[in-house]
Amino acid sequence: MPASNRLKIPIIRPYMPVKDDFMAYADQIWQTRQLSNSGPLVQELEDRLRERLRVENLMVFANGHLALDSACKALGLCSGEVITTPFTFLSTAHALSMNGLKPIFCDIKKSDCTIDEEKLEALITSETKAIVPVHVYGFPCNYERIQQIAEKYHLKVIYDAAHAFGVTVDGKGIGDFGDVSMFSFHATKVYHTVEGGAVTYHDPALTNRLRSAKNFGLTSPEEADSISFNAKMTELHAAMGLANLKSVDWQIECRKGLVEHYIHRLSLLKGIRLFRWDKPGVAYNYAYFPVLFEPDLGVTRDEIAERLEKEYHILTRKYFYPLLSDLHCYQDISNSGCTPIAKKIAEQVLTLPLFVEETHEQIDYICDAITEILSEMER
Ligand SMILES: *Cc1c(COP(=O)(O)O)cnc(C)c1O
Repeated sequence: MPASNRLKIPIIRPYMPVKDDFMAYADQIWQTRQLSNSGPLVQELEDRLRERLRVENLMVFANGHLALDSACKALGLCSGEVITTPFTFLSTAHALSMNGLKPIFCDIKKSDCTIDEEKLEALITSETKAIVPVHVYGFPCNYERIQQIAEKYHLKVIYDAAHAFGVTVDGKGIGDFGDVSMFSFHATKVYHTVEGGAVTYHDPALTNRLRSAKNFGLTSPEEADSISFNAKMTELHAAMGLANLKSVDWQIECRKGLVEHYIHRLSLLKGIRLFRWDKPGVAYNYAYFPVLFEPDLGVTRDEIAERLEKEYHILTRKYFYPLLSDLHCYQDISNSGCTPIAKKIAEQVLTLPLFVEETHEQIDYICDAITEILSEMER
Protein backbone atom coordinates (compact mmCIF):
# COMPACT_ATOMS: atom_id res chain seq x y z
CA MET A 1 0.00 0.00 0.00
CA PRO A 2 1.47 3.42 -0.85
CA ALA A 3 2.44 5.40 2.20
CA SER A 4 0.00 8.22 1.46
CA ASN A 5 -2.98 5.85 1.75
CA ARG A 6 -2.03 4.57 5.15
CA LEU A 7 -3.01 5.94 8.49
CA LYS A 8 -0.17 7.31 10.52
CA ILE A 9 1.48 4.75 12.77
CA PRO A 10 1.72 6.43 16.18
CA ILE A 11 4.65 5.90 18.51
CA ILE A 12 2.32 4.85 21.30
CA ARG A 13 -1.40 4.27 21.66
CA PRO A 14 -2.74 4.19 25.21
CA TYR A 15 -4.47 0.93 26.08
CA MET A 16 -8.14 1.21 27.01
CA PRO A 17 -9.58 -1.41 29.38
CA VAL A 18 -12.89 -3.18 28.75
CA LYS A 19 -15.41 -0.39 29.28
CA ASP A 20 -17.72 -2.53 31.45
CA ASP A 21 -14.85 -3.29 33.80
CA PHE A 22 -14.23 0.42 34.24
CA MET A 23 -17.96 1.15 34.61
CA ALA A 24 -18.36 -1.49 37.31
CA TYR A 25 -15.75 0.30 39.42
CA ALA A 26 -17.19 3.71 38.51
CA ASP A 27 -20.63 2.54 39.78
CA GLN A 28 -19.04 2.03 43.18
CA ILE A 29 -17.97 5.67 43.20
CA TRP A 30 -21.53 6.80 42.46
CA GLN A 31 -22.57 4.80 45.51
CA THR A 32 -19.84 5.74 47.98
CA ARG A 33 -19.68 9.39 46.85
CA GLN A 34 -16.07 9.30 47.93
CA LEU A 35 -14.16 10.84 45.07
CA SER A 36 -10.70 11.40 46.53
CA ASN A 37 -8.68 11.36 49.79
CA SER A 38 -7.65 7.70 49.71
CA GLY A 39 -11.06 6.16 49.15
CA PRO A 40 -11.90 2.44 48.87
CA LEU A 41 -10.79 2.13 45.21
CA VAL A 42 -7.42 3.75 45.88
CA GLN A 43 -6.94 1.37 48.79
CA GLU A 44 -7.95 -1.62 46.69
CA LEU A 45 -5.58 -0.52 43.94
CA GLU A 46 -2.72 -0.19 46.43
CA ASP A 47 -3.37 -3.71 47.73
CA ARG A 48 -3.46 -5.16 44.22
CA LEU A 49 -0.34 -3.31 43.09
CA ARG A 50 1.60 -4.37 46.18
CA GLU A 51 0.92 -7.96 45.16
CA ARG A 52 1.50 -7.45 41.45
CA LEU A 53 4.78 -5.59 41.92
CA ARG A 54 5.95 -7.95 44.70
CA VAL A 55 6.81 -5.20 47.18
CA GLU A 56 6.29 -4.73 50.92
CA ASN A 57 4.94 -1.18 50.86
CA LEU A 58 3.33 0.89 48.16
CA MET A 59 1.48 4.20 47.98
CA VAL A 60 -0.20 5.69 44.90
CA PHE A 61 0.04 9.32 43.79
CA ALA A 62 -1.52 11.72 41.27
CA ASN A 63 1.44 11.14 38.94
CA GLY A 64 4.95 9.74 38.87
CA HIS A 65 6.67 13.10 39.10
CA LEU A 66 5.02 14.09 42.37
CA ALA A 67 5.60 10.55 43.65
CA LEU A 68 9.35 11.06 43.10
CA ASP A 69 9.22 14.52 44.64
CA SER A 70 7.35 13.09 47.65
CA ALA A 71 9.95 10.32 47.99
CA CYS A 72 12.69 12.96 48.32
CA LYS A 73 10.63 14.79 50.93
CA ALA A 74 9.86 11.60 52.87
CA LEU A 75 13.55 10.67 52.96
CA GLY A 76 14.40 14.15 54.25
CA LEU A 77 16.51 15.02 51.20
CA CYS A 78 16.54 18.81 50.92
CA SER A 79 20.13 19.89 50.20
CA GLY A 80 23.34 18.56 48.72
CA GLU A 81 24.08 16.55 45.60
CA VAL A 82 22.33 13.57 44.08
CA ILE A 83 23.89 11.41 41.39
CA THR A 84 21.65 10.49 38.49
CA THR A 85 22.03 10.29 34.70
CA PRO A 86 21.32 12.82 31.94
CA PHE A 87 19.72 10.06 29.82
CA THR A 88 16.20 10.25 31.23
CA PHE A 89 13.02 12.29 31.18
CA LEU A 90 13.05 15.83 32.63
CA SER A 91 11.04 14.68 35.62
CA THR A 92 13.97 12.82 37.23
CA ALA A 93 16.25 15.86 37.57
CA HIS A 94 13.41 18.35 38.06
CA ALA A 95 12.06 16.47 41.09
CA LEU A 96 15.52 16.63 42.67
CA SER A 97 16.06 20.29 41.82
CA MET A 98 12.68 21.31 43.18
CA ASN A 99 13.75 19.86 46.53
CA GLY A 100 16.93 21.97 46.58
CA LEU A 101 19.09 19.03 45.49
CA LYS A 102 21.76 19.40 42.83
CA PRO A 103 21.67 16.66 40.19
CA ILE A 104 25.13 15.39 39.25
CA PHE A 105 25.11 13.58 35.94
CA CYS A 106 26.84 10.21 35.72
CA ASP A 107 27.48 8.44 32.43
CA ILE A 108 25.50 5.40 31.28
CA LYS A 109 26.44 1.98 29.91
CA LYS A 110 26.41 1.28 26.21
CA SER A 111 24.84 -2.13 26.81
CA ASP A 112 21.53 -0.96 28.35
CA CYS A 113 21.66 2.82 28.97
CA THR A 114 21.47 2.44 32.76
CA ILE A 115 23.85 4.29 35.10
CA ASP A 116 27.48 3.14 34.78
CA GLU A 117 28.13 1.97 38.32
CA GLU A 118 31.89 1.90 37.64
CA LYS A 119 31.89 5.66 36.98
CA LEU A 120 29.63 6.42 39.93
CA GLU A 121 32.11 6.35 42.80
CA ALA A 122 34.32 9.04 41.26
CA LEU A 123 31.40 11.51 41.43
CA ILE A 124 30.75 11.02 45.15
CA THR A 125 31.75 14.00 47.31
CA SER A 126 31.12 15.02 50.93
CA GLU A 127 27.96 16.71 49.58
CA THR A 128 26.48 13.58 48.01
CA LYS A 129 23.24 12.46 49.67
CA ALA A 130 21.69 9.95 47.32
CA ILE A 131 21.80 8.06 44.04
CA VAL A 132 18.82 8.14 41.66
CA PRO A 133 19.39 5.51 38.96
CA VAL A 134 16.84 5.07 36.19
CA HIS A 135 15.68 1.68 34.85
CA VAL A 136 15.66 3.13 31.33
CA TYR A 137 13.29 1.38 28.88
CA GLY A 138 12.58 -1.04 31.74
CA PHE A 139 16.16 -2.39 31.60
CA PRO A 140 17.15 -3.10 35.22
CA CYS A 141 20.11 -1.25 36.73
CA ASN A 142 22.89 -3.23 38.40
CA TYR A 143 21.16 -3.01 41.78
CA GLU A 144 23.65 -5.18 43.66
CA ARG A 145 26.65 -3.02 42.82
CA ILE A 146 24.69 0.20 43.38
CA GLN A 147 23.62 -1.09 46.81
CA GLN A 148 27.25 -1.87 47.73
CA ILE A 149 28.35 1.65 46.80
CA ALA A 150 25.40 3.23 48.61
CA GLU A 151 26.17 1.30 51.79
CA LYS A 152 29.87 2.15 51.63
CA TYR A 153 29.13 5.90 51.47
CA HIS A 154 25.84 5.91 53.47
CA LEU A 155 23.77 7.16 50.55
CA LYS A 156 20.06 6.73 49.92
CA VAL A 157 18.99 5.03 46.70
CA ILE A 158 15.80 6.09 44.92
CA TYR A 159 15.09 4.27 41.67
CA ASP A 160 13.24 5.98 38.87
CA ALA A 161 11.25 2.92 37.80
CA ALA A 162 8.81 4.94 35.66
CA HIS A 163 9.48 2.58 32.73
CA ALA A 164 9.72 -0.62 34.70
CA PHE A 165 6.22 -1.70 35.73
CA GLY A 166 6.15 -5.47 36.26
CA VAL A 167 9.84 -6.10 35.57
CA THR A 168 11.35 -8.78 37.82
CA VAL A 169 14.97 -9.75 38.44
CA ASP A 170 15.61 -13.26 39.80
CA GLY A 171 11.94 -13.38 40.79
CA LYS A 172 12.13 -10.13 42.77
CA GLY A 173 9.94 -7.15 41.88
CA ILE A 174 12.03 -4.29 40.55
CA GLY A 175 10.42 -1.96 43.10
CA ASP A 176 12.05 -4.01 45.84
CA PHE A 177 15.50 -2.49 45.21
CA GLY A 178 17.04 0.51 46.96
CA ASP A 179 15.28 2.52 49.66
CA VAL A 180 12.48 3.71 47.42
CA SER A 181 11.30 3.28 43.82
CA MET A 182 8.98 5.51 41.80
CA PHE A 183 6.60 4.17 39.15
CA SER A 184 4.67 6.25 36.61
CA PHE A 185 1.18 5.26 35.53
CA HIS A 186 0.92 7.90 32.82
CA ALA A 187 -1.26 7.03 29.81
CA THR A 188 1.82 6.33 27.67
CA LYS A 189 3.39 3.85 30.08
CA VAL A 190 3.09 0.04 30.09
CA TYR A 191 0.47 0.20 32.84
CA HIS A 192 -1.61 3.31 33.32
CA THR A 193 -4.25 5.00 35.45
CA VAL A 194 -4.59 7.85 32.87
CA GLU A 195 -2.30 9.93 35.09
CA GLY A 196 -0.84 8.37 38.19
CA GLY A 197 2.18 7.00 39.94
CA ALA A 198 3.39 5.11 42.98
CA VAL A 199 6.20 4.90 45.47
CA THR A 200 7.37 1.51 46.72
CA TYR A 201 9.57 1.29 49.82
CA HIS A 202 10.95 -0.84 52.62
CA ASP A 203 10.92 1.34 55.74
CA PRO A 204 7.35 1.44 57.18
CA ALA A 205 8.25 4.73 58.88
CA LEU A 206 8.04 6.35 55.45
CA THR A 207 4.28 5.70 55.25
CA ASN A 208 3.24 8.67 57.36
CA ARG A 209 5.80 10.96 55.74
CA LEU A 210 4.67 10.03 52.23
CA ARG A 211 1.04 10.48 53.22
CA SER A 212 1.83 13.93 54.56
CA ALA A 213 3.95 14.85 51.50
CA LYS A 214 1.06 14.18 49.15
CA ASN A 215 -1.46 16.07 51.25
CA PHE A 216 -0.14 19.61 51.82
CA GLY A 217 2.26 18.50 54.56
CA LEU A 218 -0.63 17.73 56.90
CA THR A 219 0.30 15.37 59.73
CA SER A 220 -3.12 15.52 61.37
CA PRO A 221 -6.31 17.48 60.60
CA GLU A 222 -4.92 20.41 62.57
CA GLU A 223 -1.16 20.23 62.04
CA ALA A 224 1.32 20.46 59.20
CA ASP A 225 5.02 19.71 59.79
CA SER A 226 6.19 20.72 56.35
CA ILE A 227 5.14 22.60 53.24
CA SER A 228 3.94 20.43 50.40
CA PHE A 229 1.54 20.04 47.48
CA ASN A 230 -1.54 17.99 46.68
CA ALA A 231 -0.55 14.73 44.95
CA LYS A 232 -3.46 12.45 45.81
CA MET A 233 -4.83 9.98 43.28
CA THR A 234 -8.60 10.25 42.70
CA GLU A 235 -11.09 7.37 42.88
CA LEU A 236 -11.81 7.73 39.14
CA HIS A 237 -8.16 7.22 38.31
CA ALA A 238 -8.02 4.25 40.66
CA ALA A 239 -11.06 2.79 38.84
CA MET A 240 -9.14 3.03 35.56
CA GLY A 241 -6.12 1.45 37.25
CA LEU A 242 -8.12 -1.47 38.64
CA ALA A 243 -9.74 -2.10 35.25
CA ASN A 244 -6.38 -1.96 33.46
CA LEU A 245 -4.74 -4.26 35.96
CA LYS A 246 -6.99 -7.11 34.77
CA SER A 247 -5.22 -7.32 31.44
CA VAL A 248 -1.73 -6.03 32.15
CA ASP A 249 -0.10 -9.47 32.04
CA TRP A 250 -1.73 -10.15 28.69
CA GLN A 251 -0.64 -6.70 27.48
CA ILE A 252 2.98 -7.42 28.39
CA GLU A 253 2.73 -10.77 26.52
CA CYS A 254 1.51 -8.87 23.43
CA ARG A 255 4.40 -6.43 23.72
CA LYS A 256 6.82 -9.34 23.99
CA GLY A 257 5.54 -10.80 20.71
CA LEU A 258 5.90 -7.42 19.00
CA VAL A 259 9.45 -6.90 20.27
CA GLU A 260 10.41 -10.41 19.16
CA HIS A 261 9.05 -9.63 15.71
CA TYR A 262 11.09 -6.40 15.54
CA ILE A 263 14.22 -8.32 16.59
CA HIS A 264 13.54 -11.04 14.02
CA ARG A 265 13.18 -8.42 11.28
CA LEU A 266 16.04 -6.09 12.24
CA SER A 267 18.78 -8.17 13.82
CA LEU A 268 20.62 -8.88 10.56
CA LEU A 269 20.21 -5.40 9.13
CA LYS A 270 23.48 -3.51 8.69
CA GLY A 271 23.78 -0.06 10.23
CA ILE A 272 21.45 -0.62 13.16
CA ARG A 273 22.24 -1.90 16.64
CA LEU A 274 19.60 -3.53 18.83
CA PHE A 275 19.66 -3.86 22.59
CA ARG A 276 19.76 -7.31 24.14
CA TRP A 277 16.68 -8.65 25.84
CA ASP A 278 18.17 -11.88 27.18
CA LYS A 279 19.82 -11.06 30.48
CA PRO A 280 19.52 -14.17 32.69
CA GLY A 281 16.92 -13.86 35.44
CA VAL A 282 15.21 -10.77 33.99
CA ALA A 283 11.50 -10.76 33.05
CA TYR A 284 11.15 -7.69 30.84
CA ASN A 285 8.03 -5.58 30.37
CA TYR A 286 8.84 -4.54 26.76
CA ALA A 287 8.01 -0.91 27.47
CA TYR A 288 9.88 0.60 24.51
CA PHE A 289 11.74 -0.55 21.45
CA PRO A 290 14.87 1.59 21.11
CA VAL A 291 17.39 1.07 18.30
CA LEU A 292 20.73 2.75 17.63
CA PHE A 293 21.79 3.87 14.16
CA GLU A 294 25.52 3.61 13.47
CA PRO A 295 27.21 7.00 13.06
CA ASP A 296 28.76 6.65 9.57
CA LEU A 297 25.77 5.58 7.51
CA GLY A 298 25.66 8.58 5.20
CA VAL A 299 22.31 9.39 6.76
CA THR A 300 21.84 10.71 10.28
CA ARG A 301 19.38 9.51 12.89
CA ASP A 302 17.53 12.82 12.53
CA GLU A 303 17.19 12.36 8.78
CA ILE A 304 15.95 8.81 9.25
CA ALA A 305 13.33 9.98 11.77
CA GLU A 306 12.21 12.74 9.44
CA ARG A 307 11.93 10.45 6.41
CA LEU A 308 10.00 7.86 8.42
CA GLU A 309 7.49 10.53 9.34
CA LYS A 310 7.25 12.46 6.06
CA GLU A 311 7.43 9.60 3.55
CA TYR A 312 6.11 6.64 5.51
CA HIS A 313 3.88 8.31 8.14
CA ILE A 314 5.64 6.47 10.93
CA LEU A 315 6.12 8.41 14.15
CA THR A 316 9.23 7.76 16.23
CA ARG A 317 10.77 9.40 19.30
CA LYS A 318 14.32 10.31 20.19
CA TYR A 319 14.14 8.93 23.71
CA PHE A 320 16.32 10.45 25.22
CA TYR A 321 17.59 13.35 23.21
CA PRO A 322 18.70 15.95 24.13
CA LEU A 323 20.52 14.93 27.29
CA LEU A 324 19.27 16.77 30.37
CA SER A 325 22.75 18.22 30.75
CA ASP A 326 22.32 19.97 27.39
CA LEU A 327 19.10 21.74 28.40
CA HIS A 328 19.22 25.41 29.22
CA CYS A 329 17.91 24.84 32.74
CA TYR A 330 20.83 22.52 33.60
CA GLN A 331 23.60 24.55 31.99
CA ASP A 332 25.19 25.43 35.30
CA ILE A 333 25.69 21.84 36.43
CA SER A 334 29.44 21.60 36.72
CA ASN A 335 30.02 18.17 35.22
CA SER A 336 27.88 18.44 32.08
CA GLY A 337 29.78 17.05 29.15
CA CYS A 338 31.50 14.32 31.16
CA THR A 339 29.11 11.69 29.90
CA PRO A 340 30.53 10.60 26.52
CA ILE A 341 28.55 7.37 26.19
CA ALA A 342 25.27 9.11 27.00
CA LYS A 343 26.11 11.79 24.45
CA LYS A 344 26.82 9.24 21.75
CA ILE A 345 23.70 7.17 22.42
CA ALA A 346 21.48 10.27 22.56
CA GLU A 347 22.64 11.09 19.03
CA GLN A 348 22.02 7.58 17.68
CA VAL A 349 18.87 6.42 19.43
CA LEU A 350 15.38 6.18 18.04
CA THR A 351 12.46 4.46 19.73
CA LEU A 352 10.13 2.76 17.28
CA PRO A 353 6.33 2.46 17.60
CA LEU A 354 5.33 -0.06 20.25
CA PHE A 355 1.80 -0.43 21.64
CA VAL A 356 -0.44 -3.35 22.54
CA GLU A 357 -2.72 -3.15 19.51
CA GLU A 358 0.12 -2.80 17.00
CA THR A 359 0.05 -5.52 14.34
CA HIS A 360 2.87 -7.62 12.94
CA GLU A 361 1.99 -6.12 9.54
CA GLN A 362 2.61 -2.63 10.91
CA ILE A 363 5.97 -3.77 12.25
CA ASP A 364 6.80 -5.31 8.86
CA TYR A 365 5.92 -1.99 7.20
CA ILE A 366 8.15 -0.07 9.68
CA CYS A 367 11.04 -2.51 9.22
CA ASP A 368 10.66 -2.41 5.41
CA ALA A 369 10.82 1.40 5.54
CA ILE A 370 14.00 1.36 7.64
CA THR A 371 15.54 -1.31 5.39
CA GLU A 372 14.73 0.81 2.33
CA ILE A 373 16.29 3.97 3.78
CA LEU A 374 19.43 2.15 4.91
CA SER A 375 19.88 0.21 1.67
CA GLU A 376 19.77 3.43 -0.38
CA MET A 377 22.88 4.45 1.52
CA GLU A 378 24.78 1.32 0.58
CA ARG A 379 24.53 2.04 -3.12
C1 LIG B 1 7.11 9.29 32.64
C2 LIG B 1 8.35 9.49 33.41
C3 LIG B 1 8.40 10.17 34.62
C4 LIG B 1 7.25 11.00 35.17
O1 LIG B 1 6.09 10.35 35.32
P1 LIG B 1 4.67 11.10 35.21
O2 LIG B 1 3.72 10.07 35.72
O3 LIG B 1 4.46 11.47 33.80
O4 LIG B 1 4.73 12.28 36.11
C5 LIG B 1 9.59 10.19 35.34
N1 LIG B 1 10.69 9.58 34.88
C6 LIG B 1 10.70 8.94 33.70
C7 LIG B 1 11.96 8.26 33.25
C8 LIG B 1 9.56 8.90 32.91
O5 LIG B 1 9.58 8.29 31.72
